[in-house]
Amino acid sequence: MILNNPSLFISEAYINGKWLKGNSSFQVQNPSTNEILTEVPNFGKTETAEAIQFAQEAFLAWKTKSAPERANILKKWHHLLLENEEDLAKILSLEQGKPYKEALGEIRYGASYIEWFAEETRRIYGDIIPGHESDKRIMVIKQAIGVVGIITPWNFPNAMIARKIAPALAAGCSVVVKPAAQTPLSALAMAFLGEKAGIPSGVIQIITSDKASEVGLELCSNPIVKKISFTGSTKTGKILMQQCAGQLKKLSLELGGNAPFIVFEDANIEEAVKGAILSKYRNAGQTCVCSNRIYVQESIYQEFVEKFHQAVIQLKVGDGMNIETDIGPLIDHAALSKVEFLLEDAIKKGANLYCGGIPYTLGGTFYEPTILTNCHDDMLCSTEEIFGPIAPIFSFQTEEEVIARANASEYGLAAYFYSNQINRIYKVFEALEYGMIGVNTGLISTAVAPFGGIKESGFGREGSKYGMDEYLDKKYICIGGISS
Ligand code: NAP
Repeated sequence: MILNNPSLFISEAYINGKWLKGNSSFQVQNPSTNEILTEVPNFGKTETAEAIQFAQEAFLAWKTKSAPERANILKKWHHLLLENEEDLAKILSLEQGKPYKEALGEIRYGASYIEWFAEETRRIYGDIIPGHESDKRIMVIKQAIGVVGIITPWNFPNAMIARKIAPALAAGCSVVVKPAAQTPLSALAMAFLGEKAGIPSGVIQIITSDKASEVGLELCSNPIVKKISFTGSTKTGKILMQQCAGQLKKLSLELGGNAPFIVFEDANIEEAVKGAILSKYRNAGQTCVCSNRIYVQESIYQEFVEKFHQAVIQLKVGDGMNIETDIGPLIDHAALSKVEFLLEDAIKKGANLYCGGIPYTLGGTFYEPTILTNCHDDMLCSTEEIFGPIAPIFSFQTEEEVIARANASEYGLAAYFYSNQINRIYKVFEALEYGMIGVNTGLISTAVAPFGGIKESGFGREGSKYGMDEYLDKKYICIGGISS
């Protein structure tokens, strides 16, 4: 791999400002080519506990820095991330498989959170509340919560970390990060640039490990850690919540989704097709906000399917580093097997395979973008997160019916719908039981808006003016005995 700055390609973990090799290691592989990119240390409970201790020492100093001091360091970090965006995107594409152009978008998206929270650092306002008795004065201040444990998935190796580290550091917290075992290199490159930006030793620690449950248990059970911020599957989120229960540790959980994408007959069909392509096939269908179930009103069903098909056959599958690629490989063979299983189930239950449905000629974990029509709610692709490039299309008749079907999921992350009737737009977004709603758009993620779900998609919000609160405690002070 040719990088402008080869020192960004790091194979060591990062604890207390030191780059460390371990006694054992595990491999990081390119899912496009199966090439072994490198090996990184395989740390466990002991190293995690050490990192937590260092993070606590660093926290005590970091939280006392003034807001402008923390803001300036974060701004410098933001600047360095953008200055090195091409190298960072290459590293990301190689370890994750997503197309280089999408990887570049992710680096910019991740950096935008660092910039946003650098700016928000100066706005950690408290409150003065009119007292309930004449000799009392009441105020509320917000203070950094302490050491934060961060656990992130492989599908956005940069952005999922940036969305958590940025508000944590802005608030004055220090962090111990465990990136996904399949994609640790983006995290290490970020930490390297953080160090260059002046983030003090111990404020960021990166534990590379393929012993997730061991590291996770230490983060959840070590009393120094005051908060866990997790993005990943609902299954793992529930385990972490149980492990945090003993100490009632504060949690943010960004979990799985099952996004409905609804196209009403009054919608602009061309725009709906564009939105569906973006929200379904980004990152080969492996995002938590990917549309999972496409509902199209009966009267426009055939027209939508034909136009959607015309757009799908334009998509190019291939190695992420090929500039023409729109869809990279699935992350691993388990992901491929899941997609194949869901397809088989749908076809067995009566779905029509409109296009795709086979592993791509490139072999490995590449999979053809696929459309299924005549889908029904009893199919697993309707109830489970597909996390792959299969688009099941369902037909519906009425607004009430589709809202009920869209809400019939334990997940509540993102939902999308297309309509040009203002009355309907209000009624439908108010009725959908999801944390985020895209109306006439298939792309909703931005640092300025609160990202997060309800129901079994978790709780807590990332980004926006709400994001910092996840890393702050509110302290109420009552001053009595003030004579007039
Ligand atoms: P996952 O299996 O839950 O893994 C996510 C992270 O948790 C990885 O770092 C993993 O480590 C770690 N982990 C696994 N088991 C653990 C345990 N027992 N204790 C502590 N940590 C543990 O999720 P995934 O399949 O990799 O990621 C995809 C999921 O993430 C999807 O459900 C997707 O919807 C969700 N997601 C949600 C959002 C959101 O913002 N809501 C964003 C992106 C993705 P290893 O890598 O070592 O296994």
